[in-house]
Amino acid sequence: MKLFKGNIIFTKEKQAFDIIEDGFILSDEGKVLEVGHGLDDKYPDLEVIDYSNHLLIPGFVDLHFHAVQYGNLGIGLDEELLDWLNDYTFKEEAKFQDLTYARAIFDKAINHMIASGTTRMVFFSSIHQAAAELLMDLCSEKGVGAFVGKVNMDRNAPDSLLEDSDQSLEITRYLLENDREEAKAIITPRFVPSCSKDLMDRLGELASKGYPVQTHISENESEIEWVKSLHPEAKNYLDVYDKAGLITDKTILAHCVFCTEEERQVIFDKKAFVAHCPAANFNLTSGIMNAKLYLDKGIRIGLGTDVGAGHTPSIRQVIVEAIKMSKVNHMMDKTMPVLSLSEAFYMATKGGGQYFGKVGSFEKSYDLDMLVIKPDDLSLTRNMPILNQLQRFIYAGDNLMISAVYCKGKRLNAY
Ligand SMILES: [Zn+2]
Repeated sequence: MKLFKGNIIFTKEKQAFDIIEDGFILSDEGKVLEVGHGLDDKYPDLEVIDYSNHLLIPGFVDLHFHAVQYGNLGIGLDEELLDWLNDYTFKEEAKFQDLTYARAIFDKAINHMIASGTTRMVFFSSIHQAAAELLMDLCSEKGVGAFVGKVNMDRNAPDSLLEDSDQSLEITRYLLENDREEAKAIITPRFVPSCSKDLMDRLGELASKGYPVQTHISENESEIEWVKSLHPEAKNYLDVYDKAGLITDKTILAHCVFCTEEERQVIFDKKAFVAHCPAANFNLTSGIMNAKLYLDKGIRIGLGTDVGAGHTPSIRQVIVEAIKMSKVNHMMDKTMPVLSLSEAFYMATKGGGQYFGKVGSFEKSYDLDMLVIKPDDLSLTRNMPILNQLQRFIYAGDNLMISAVYCKGKRLNAY
């Protein structure tokens, strides 16, 4: 058993922070057993790992990250989605048949995420089987929790990324049946324009066996028009996936910028997850997603950096972007409520963490995913309240303030 001491702050509920100043977290075998004051007196024989004057917060969860686009981080963001895919994304992804190149990029991407405080990661890889397996292995070696998706693309792709439908399905099936304990495979049709109806139907059959699914939806208006022209029979964008059996309680839908109330109702009814990616939505001038509508409806929603459309692998920065986006909504329409810091922090931790099980909180029996944050000198000399110290870290901090990262109770290497 381990006993950690520090200033504990987390969001059991989205409306408010739970704060335990000079508190303790008791953990065993990577899980939280107890949290509160005075646990050093209750368990006098246990050694205390003393992080006094530090914040202890849950590790961040990134529900949407293209590991194969890390090399493009920050590049080409003056274009919109469909041009950007052709001019930057697809060219880069074709390089991942080269495993030496893949290893170099994946290694840097995961290290940068850990240094940014992310302990749980949901990845799009490329179409290549070997690259996806390598990414699973690297996640396992580094001790992070992950889902890794080999992308399915059998239409509207450049020749270098266009798959044979049968082979795409078979590789996906193989990866689902041969994944790693901490790095699971996930069914990953890129988006409707990239996947034939036949392939989506067959992936849906796999999903019906309980396997996880991730995809993109309603990110950009030109994309939505394209989907309409490809599937005039569908009620809406979501309906294309739903008819194929791809919308389940293990599905992550990235973006949902333009989803209608009818689509939101299906997402809610099916208990699917939403990955809100505000940085990417700003960068590619896609649109203003109203995360608050999803949260208030009780839809399961977390945050995604969406690297490379997102310009940062830091979920801390994406929390700020999510709040900014809700303020833009509010400035355009005063009836639109603004996301609070606790709501955005909740999405970044427990909201997305639900996808991994009991993750993203310090409640009893949750996995001990924890960041140790050293506040800046000014916070300490001014004797700032714990909440202000957290606000300062989120808005004005940097990765150097993260002095330790734990996933399932194990300290990850700092790179
Ligand atoms: Zn994406």
